[in-house]
Amino acid sequence: MDEREAALRQAHGHAVRWLASLSDRPVPARATVDEIVRALGAELPDAPSTPADVVDLLATACEPGLTAFPSGRFYGFVVGGTEPAALAADWLVSAWDQNSVMRAVSPAYAAAEEIAGAWLLDLLGLPPESSVGFTTGATMANFTCLAAGRDAVLRRNGWNVAHEGLAGGPPVRVIAGQDRHMAIDLALRYLGLGRPELVAADDQGRMDPEALSRTLAAAHPGSRPGPEPGPTIVILQAGDIHSGAFDPFAETIRAAREADAWVHVDGAFGLWAAASPAHAHLAEGCAQADSWATDAHKTLNVPYDCGLAVVRDSSALRSAMGLRGDYLIQHEHGDPVDKVPELSRRGRAFTVWAALRSLGRQGVADLVDRLCHHARTFATGIRAIDGATVLNDVVFTQVCADFGGDDRTDRVLARLLDEGTAWISGSTWHGRRVMRISVSNWSTTDEDVSRTLDAIRRAASKAFRP
Ligand SMILES: *Cc1c(COP(=O)(O)O)cnc(C)c1O
Repeated sequence: MDEREAALRQAHGHAVRWLASLSDRPVPARATVDEIVRALGAELPDAPSTPADVVDLLATACEPGLTAFPSGRFYGFVVGGTEPAALAADWLVSAWDQNSVMRAVSPAYAAAEEIAGAWLLDLLGLPPESSVGFTTGATMANFTCLAAGRDAVLRRNGWNVAHEGLAGGPPVRVIAGQDRHMAIDLALRYLGLGRPELVAADDQGRMDPEALSRTLAAAHPGSRPGPEPGPTIVILQAGDIHSGAFDPFAETIRAAREADAWVHVDGAFGLWAAASPAHAHLAEGCAQADSWATDAHKTLNVPYDCGLAVVRDSSALRSAMGLRGDYLIQHEHGDPVDKVPELSRRGRAFTVWAALRSLGRQGVADLVDRLCHHARTFATGIRAIDGATVLNDVVFTQVCADFGGDDRTDRVLARLLDEGTAWISGSTWHGRRVMRISVSNWSTTDEDVSRTLDAIRRAASKAFRP
C-alpha cells in the first residue's frame, strides 16, 4: 500500500468514527483553541512525516475541539449537515481535483453544473432561462447577483460601469427591508454601493409593500432631478433568520417594477420552500424577481462551501462576471467561470448534483417539510414550558423563544450549552434576547427533537430556580 492510499484509509477511518459518534457525543466543542494548539504542536517540524501519521495526528488532536455541526441536535445559525451522497461526492471532488473553470478542460464538471443548475431552477420554480453560478456561499451569491443588477440598471441609464467605474455615474439607489441579513450590507460594501435605504417591516420582519411604494416615490437624496426613476435596486428576502418570514413578493415586486428597479431576493435558506408543495405558498410570486441568492450548504445539506447565484438575464450575469484570458480555452457560449467571481475553484456542483440525485424531487420536498415539522414541534414544546413564550409565527424552520426576560433567556441558553445535548444559540431580536432555534439538518429525527426539548426543560427549570 503506498503512502497516499494509507493516508486516505486513515482519513476514512477517522471520518466514519466521527460520524458514528454524533448520536451520543456532546454537541458543543469541549476544548479551547489553546488546548488544540498544544495538541497539534505549534512548532513547524524540520523533517517530513508520513501522510498517514499527519492525518492521524490532525484527527486525534482536533477531535475535542470540534463542534458536532453535522449532529441532528445542532440548531445554530441556519446551517445544515451533510447528505451522505454529497459528503462522499465531496471526497471525490478533492481526489479528482478539477479546476472547475472551463468546459473544454473539465467536461465532466461542466456537465454536472449544467444538470444541477437546471434541476435547481425546476425545484425552486425559477425561470428556466436563468443562469446559475456556484459560489462559496450566499454572501457571495448575493454579491454576484447584485453586481449583475448594479451593472444592468446603470447600463439602462446609459452608464457602462465596467469601463467607467462608479465615480461620475448616476447614483444607484438601493432599497432593502429593515430586517435584511447583514450579508446584504456586506455585498453592497464590496460593490461600492454604500448602505441601503431601509423600508419598514412588520413584527415578523416582512417588508411593508406600502412603505416600499412610498420610499420609491420619494426622491432619492442623491438623484438628479427629472421624471425618470434612475438606477434602482430593490432587495427582498425569502426567510428571515429569526422568524423564517417571507416578504410579500407579489405586492413588493409590482411596486418595484413600476419604478423600473432590478429586484433581487436573498433566499439563503428560505428559497427552498418553493421545492415543497406544502410550503411553496410562502415563496409565491418570488419567481417574478430578476435575481435570487441561495445556499446549498444550508437547506440542501451539501458540504461547505456552496452557494447559488441565479440571474434571469444570463447576459447580465456574464457581463458582470465573465472574463477573457489569452491562455484560457473558452467556449463561445460561456463557461462556469463566467458566472462567479472566482477563477480557480473546486467542483462545487458535483456535490449539489449528488444531493439532488440522491433525494429526488420527492426527497427535497420531504426534507423541507421535515425541517418545518420539527420547528413546529419545538414551538409546541416550548410553549408548554412555564414562563416560556414563542415570539414568532412559526411558518418555516425558525423558532425564537423568550424564557421570561433577557437574563433568564441567557441563563437557559448557558445551561443548555453547558449540558451539551444540543447546540442552540442566543440572539437579539427586536431589542430582546431570544433563544434562536434553526432546524436545518437533514438527519434531525423526532427523537433528536424530543431529547433537545427535554434538555431545554431541564435548563429552564434550573434557570428559574431562585
Ligand atoms: C446565511 C445567510 C446569508 C449568508 O450566507 P453564507 O452562506 O453564510 O455566506 C445571507 N442571507 C441569509 C438570509 C442567510 O440566512
